[in-house]
Amino acid sequence: MPIEFNELKQLSKQARDVSNILRKELGEMPHKIEGNFIAFFGRQFNPDYKWNSALKPLWSGFYIKYNDLEMMVDPGINILERAERIGVNLARTNTLFVSHGHIDHGHDANVIAEMAAYREDSKLRVLMSERTQEEKIMSHYHSQSQDGVELVLIDKMEEIDLSANIKLKSVEVTHTIAGSFGFVLDINGLKIGYTGDTGFNATYKTIDGRELSATEKIPDKKEIEEPGAFNDKLKKVFSEVDILVFNLHDVEFRKHTKHNLYHSTVSDAVNVLRDSKVKNCFFEHFNPHGCLGVEYPQKVNQYIKESTGKETLLVALNGHVVNLDNI
Ligand SMILES: [Zn+2]
Ligand SMILES: [Zn+2]
Repeated sequence: MPIEFNELKQLSKQARDVSNILRKELGEMPHKIEGNFIAFFGRQFNPDYKWNSALKPLWSGFYIKYNDLEMMVDPGINILERAERIGVNLARTNTLFVSHGHIDHGHDANVIAEMAAYREDSKLRVLMSERTQEEKIMSHYHSQSQDGVELVLIDKMEEIDLSANIKLKSVEVTHTIAGSFGFVLDINGLKIGYTGDTGFNATYKTIDGRELSATEKIPDKKEIEEPGAFNDKLKKVFSEVDILVFNLHDVEFRKHTKHNLYHSTVSDAVNVLRDSKVKNCFFEHFNPHGCLGVEYPQKVNQYIKESTGKETLLVALNGHVVNLDNI
């Protein structure tokens, strides 16, 4: 029997109606996690896939829900599947923070803006630096011209009121890409810090004992022998929070490369945490080095815990949820 064009028109209308209802439902659907929380999305890929262990880590992402605040931070790749698995409904996002323009922090930022647009009268504040915007980590449409979207350049204002009694202070950090930021979120006096990707050295030492600035142009990377003075400004900011999300990159300082002037080590973590006010520290970023299995990152966490006497946890490959109502 030949297909009538009218039947196609009918089906097209039906499909549109159904998907509009589904989108509306999605926008209103609660998270599968109750109360106020931080959810770390983890990696959540099958470690049996060779590419999964072989690739550099590409999987940042955590979500803070506190009353009216629905904040997605650093959506790396495959955010939809990871959010679904941990129980976060990304369509509820009203604030998006992108710390810097690297793929593991912003790859799926446009996806978040798409999801947020499913809510009726949706509003989305996009927080990023001017440089991150220039990197085009988000499309112009998703970060600026989409209905309900407001772009806030975090390097232009130090403190932002996110909702009643919730403020975010951006913290400029030292990373391979300019315009990299972390933050301190103040929720009714509860402070949550996020380091973003950063090194913690103000200076480095050369083999002949000179101490040179780690933040100015480096004349010869072969001269980088060991870490010098600690970046006390960053230490102070992140040691005065209650909960710290710390992007941990390495075990030890690597010589003759600029790498650890821009990325953190175990001793940086110990230095920040020791004698700090931090009650709970969650290590992100280290877990994607999953090719040796879970024991190695657990040992790293155990070492830091024993060295600082702090409550620390290294986020597992399949993520982690922290309830903020009992903290
Ligand atoms: Zn980075
Ligand atoms: Zn990163």
